[in-house]
Amino acid sequence: MRNASLWRAVLGVQDTVVEDVEFDETAQVVVAQVRPRRVARGRCGICGGRAGWYDRGQGRRRWRTLDLGTIEVFLEAEVRRVNCRIHGPTVCQVPWARHGAGHTRAFDAQVAWLATHCSKRAITELMRIAWRTVGSIIARVWAETAAGIDAFADLTRIGIDEISYKRHHKYLTIVVDHDSGRLVWASTGRNRATVRAFFDALEASGHGRCAQIAHVSADGAEWIADVVAERCPDAVRCADPFHVVGWANDAVDEVRRQAWNAARRAGHTQSHGWVDGRRVTVSTGEAKTLKRTRFVLWKNPQNLTEPQRVKLEWIAKTDPRLYRAYLLKEGLRTIFKLPVAQAAEALDKWISWARRCRIEAFVLLQQRITRHRTQILASIEHGLSNGLIESANTKIRLLTRMAFGFATPQPLIALAMLTLGGHRPALPGRQ
Ligand SMILES: [Zn+2]
Repeated sequence: MRNASLWRAVLGVQDTVVEDVEFDETAQVVVAQVRPRRVARGRCGICGGRAGWYDRGQGRRRWRTLDLGTIEVFLEAEVRRVNCRIHGPTVCQVPWARHGAGHTRAFDAQVAWLATHCSKRAITELMRIAWRTVGSIIARVWAETAAGIDAFADLTRIGIDEISYKRHHKYLTIVVDHDSGRLVWASTGRNRATVRAFFDALEASGHGRCAQIAHVSADGAEWIADVVAERCPDAVRCADPFHVVGWANDAVDEVRRQAWNAARRAGHTQSHGWVDGRRVTVSTGEAKTLKRTRFVLWKNPQNLTEPQRVKLEWIAKTDPRLYRAYLLKEGLRTIFKLPVAQAAEALDKWISWARRCRIEAFVLLQQRITRHRTQILASIEHGLSNGLIESANTKIRLLTRMAFGFATPQPLIALAMLTLGGHRPALPGRQ
C-alpha cells in the first residue's frame, strides 16, 4: 500500500503493517486493515510469552481508535489464537491494543488523560463513549501502570484514612505518603483485614519494608491502630490533626442542632401543611438564623466574610452556650499550630477546660482527646503534614462524586491512583 509509513504514523501504531485504508461512506467511518509485524506475532495475549499457532479464532475484529478530524476510525484485523504453555488456547497479543480491549492503546491513553483533567460530560461527548466504558479503560490503564512501578519505594511516613463512596454506604481505605504527598494505595473496605492487605502488599514489594515505616498517622480508629501495632510495632502512631478538628466540628454541630431544636420548640417555626403524612414546617426567626450558622461555626475565623462575622457576634450575644462550644473548637484548632513545647501544656489546659464546660458533646470529646493525647502530641512533634492527608482526602471525595455510574469500585480506585499517585497518564504519542 502506498504511504504505509504515513498511515502508521497517523494511526499511531507500532510493529504493525497497514494493509489498506478505506472510507465507508454509508457508516461515515474510516477502517484500516492491519496485521502485527512478524516480530510481534505469535505471543500470548495474557502473558506476552511466545506461543505456537492454535487456530484462526473468530475471524476479523475491530478496535475503535482516535478520530481522524471529525471521522471515527477503526482498526480491523484477523485475530488468531495461540496455544500458550500457561494459559492454553488464547487470543494472540496485538501491538495496538490491550488484551480483551475494544479500543486501541492510543484511544485508552487519551481517555485516561482526559479522566484526570476533564469533566465526565466532556470525556463522554468528546470520545463518544459511555461513562462505564471510561471506567473499564482507566481500570486497565492503571492495572498496567501499577505493574510497571514501585509505588512503595522509600516509604517511611504514611497516613491511613477512610473515605465513603456510593452515598456513604461503602468505604475505601487509602494510604498516603507524608513525604511526597502521593496516594500510594487504595482498596475497598474499612476493617482490620483491609489494613492487613496493605501491609501484606508492602512487605511483598520488598522484604523488611514494614519495619522501615517510622510514622503512621490515622484518625484514631482502633481497626487501624491495632494492625499498625501488630505489623510495625516500632512506628510512632500519630493522630491526624484535621480529623481531631473534625471531631470538634461535629461536637459544635451537635450543640447547634440542640439550640435549633430548642428554638423550634419555643415556637420559632411556621407550619406549611402536610405532605405525604408529614407536617412540613419552616424555621422562622431565631431557629432560621441558627440553621444558617453551620458554616460560620465551621470556618476558620480569619476566613469569615463580614456578614458571617456579624452572625458570629449574634451567636455570642444570643446563645452563650453555642458560642462557648465554638470557642472550645477554635481553642483545640490553635493547639496544632503551637510549637511542641507549648502544645502539651496547652492541650492539658484545653482538656480541663472542656471537662468543666457543662456541654455534654465537649465533655465526651474531651474524653476522646485524652485517650488520643499521645498520638495528638506525636503528630505535632513530628510535624506530619496534615495538609497532605486533608487535600488527598478532599480530592478523592471529589473523585467519588465523579465515579457515580461506574459499575464497580475498581475504576474509582484507578482514577484516584492515576490522579494522585504521582504517575499521571501522558497523552498518546507524547512523553
Ligand atoms: Zn500466556
